[in-house]
Amino acid sequence: MLAPVKVAVCMKEVPAAAAPKRIDPGTKRLDRSVEGALNDFDTHALEEALRLKDSAAETEVVVVSMAPERASESLRKALAMGADRVVLVSDEAAAGSDLVATTAVLAAALERESPDLTLFGQQAGDADGAVLWAAIADRLRLPMISQAASLELQDGKVRSKRQTEFGYDVLEAPLPCVVAVSDAINDPRYPSLKGIMGAKKKPQDVVSLADLGVEPGRAGEAGSRTAVLALAEPPSRGDSRRIEDDGGSAATEILSYLTERKLL
Ligand SMILES: Cc1cc2nc3c(=O)[nH]c(=O)nc-3n(C[C@H](O)[C@H](O)[C@H](O)COP(=O)(O)OP(=O)(O)OC[C@H]3O[C@@H](n4cnc5c(N)ncnc54)[C@H](O)[C@@H]3O)c2cc1C
Repeated sequence: MLAPVKVAVCMKEVPAAAAPKRIDPGTKRLDRSVEGALNDFDTHALEEALRLKDSAAETEVVVVSMAPERASESLRKALAMGADRVVLVSDEAAAGSDLVATTAVLAAALERESPDLTLFGQQAGDADGAVLWAAIADRLRLPMISQAASLELQDGKVRSKRQTEFGYDVLEAPLPCVVAVSDAINDPRYPSLKGIMGAKKKPQDVVSLADLGVEPGRAGEAGSRTAVLALAEPPSRGDSRRIEDDGGSAATEILSYLTERKLL
C-alpha cells in the first residue's frame, strides 16, 4: 500500500471531435462556442492519478482547469471517472490568454492547492502546443518529466520511463514535481453509472483571478506576450497530378514523373 499523496491533474476543455473548428475573424481566436469535451490526452493523466488513489485510498485527486464556466459540464466527466473535486478558474479577464498568461493563472491555482504531484496530458488537442507543462514547472521551480510512459511513486520520489526515439530513459524526480504523461501510458477507465450519479454531488469550485491573487493585467490579452496580427488561407499547393494505378502502371508513371523533374 502506497502512502497517500495529493495529486493535481490539469485538464482542458477542447472543441468536441465532431464540432466544426473555425477561427473567429473578429477576435482572431478559435471559436470555442461550439460543443466542448474533455481533452482526450488529459484523461490518461487522470487515469494515472486514479490508479495512485486505487493503491492509497486517502490520496486526493483534484482537477485544475482554466476555461469559461460552461466547461463545468465537460469537467464533470473527470468527477464521474473518480476525481474528488474540480477547481475551475473562470474569469472574463482571462479570455484571450496566450501561453504566458495561461501559465500565470494555472501556476497560481496550483500554488494554492500545493499538490505533491501535478499531472498533465501530453498536449491539448486544439492548440497542440505540448509545452504548457514545461512552462508551469518553470514558473513553480519544480522538476519535470515529460512523455512519461510509466509512473511509480516510491520513497517520496517519482520514477518514470520516458519515451524517446530510441527506447526509454528511466528518470527519477523528488516530490513535489510535474509529470506530463504520454497517451501510451494507460487506457483510461470509463465512468461507471455509480460514478456518473456520484459526480453531481462532488465539489466543483469556480474561482476568479482575484481569488487566486492574480492581477487582471497578468491574464487575458493584457497578460499575453503574443498577439495574432492577421489570418490568411494557407497557400494553394500549386500544380499537382493524380496518378491512378491502372493495371500496375502507377510505379512506372511515378518514376517518369520524378525523373522528368530531376528529382531522382
Ligand atoms: C493570442 C492568443 C490568444 C489565445 N486565446 C485563448 C482563449 O481565449 N481561450 C483559450 O482557451 N485559449 C486561448 N489561446 C490558447 C492558449 O494560450 C493555449 O491553449 C494555452 O497556452 C495552452 O497551450 P496548448 O493548448 O497548446 O496546451 P498544451 O501545451 O498542448 O497542453 C499540455 C497540457 O496542459 C494542460 N492544459 C492546457 N491548457 C489547459 C487549461 N486551460 N487548463 C488546464 N490544463 C490545461 C493539459 O493537461 C494539456 O494536456 C490563445 C493563444 C494565443 C496565442
